[in-house]
Amino acid sequence: MIERQGEAIVLRVWPFHEADLLVSLFTRDQGRVKGVARHAMRSRRRFGGALEPMTHVRATYAERPRQELVRLDAFEILSSPLSRPIDYARTAALQLVAEVLEEALPEQAPEDAVFRLALAVMEEIQVGRAWMPITYFALWMKRLMGWMPELGHCVVCGEYLRGRTVWYSPTSDGVTCEDDRRGGSIALSAESVALAERMFRGTVKGLGEEEWPRTRGADLRRFALETLERHLEHRLASARALGRL
Ligand SMILES: [Zn+2]
Repeated sequence: MIERQGEAIVLRVWPFHEADLLVSLFTRDQGRVKGVARHAMRSRRRFGGALEPMTHVRATYAERPRQELVRLDAFEILSSPLSRPIDYARTAALQLVAEVLEEALPEQAPEDAVFRLALAVMEEIQVGRAWMPITYFALWMKRLMGWMPELGHCVVCGEYLRGRTVWYSPTSDGVTCEDDRRGGSIALSAESVALAERMFRGTVKGLGEEEWPRTRGADLRRFALETLERHLEHRLASARALGRL
C-alpha cells in the first residue's frame, strides 16, 4: 500500500455500495484518479463538505496493489465553492469545468497546467460573472489538449483572415473564409477572434476586472464549447444547462 497526500479537485461523486461513495478526483501529482470513500455517507467527519464537486482539497489516499480504485482516507478543504454565494449560473459553470475535466483527462496522467487553469478559473466563477471564465476555460482546455485550431488562416485556401469573420463547422477541423465555408458552418466575428487572442495572452483574473455581460463574446463561448464537445465526443449536460439561461 502506498500512502499519498496532495492537492486535488473533486470532480464527481457517485453512491457506491451501501454507505460508500465513489469519487473522481483530479490530483495535482497523479492526474485523474478514482477512489472509494468508505462509509462517507455515514461518517461526515473525514470528508465533511469536501465532497461537493469543484472543492479544492488536500487529499490523503492509499494506492492498493492490483486495485484500480484508490482508498480515500481524508480530505481537508483548501477552498470550497460553497464558501461564496451560489446561484444557478455559477453552479452550472462549476459543473461545466468538472464535467470537461472528467471527460478530457486520461486517468493517472499529471496535467499541472490544466490543474492551475482549473484553480484560476474556479476562483473567477462567481455570482453574476460566470460567462467569461467558462469561455476562457474552454479555449485554454482546447489549447492545452492540442485541439485549438489556428484562427488566422483559412484551412481550405490558406487565406490570411486577421480582422475578418471566420467560419467553423461543428463537424470538421479548422476555420475557413466565407467562400470556403462548409455546410452548417457558424460565424465567429472578427471581434471575438481578437477576444480569443486576448484570452490566450492574459490571465482570467485580469480579464475578470472587465464587465462581461452574457452577450459579450457569446459567439466565442459557443465556438469554444461546441468545438470542445466535438473533441470530447460528448454533449456537455452542463453546457445545455447554461444554454437555458
Ligand atoms: Zn478560404
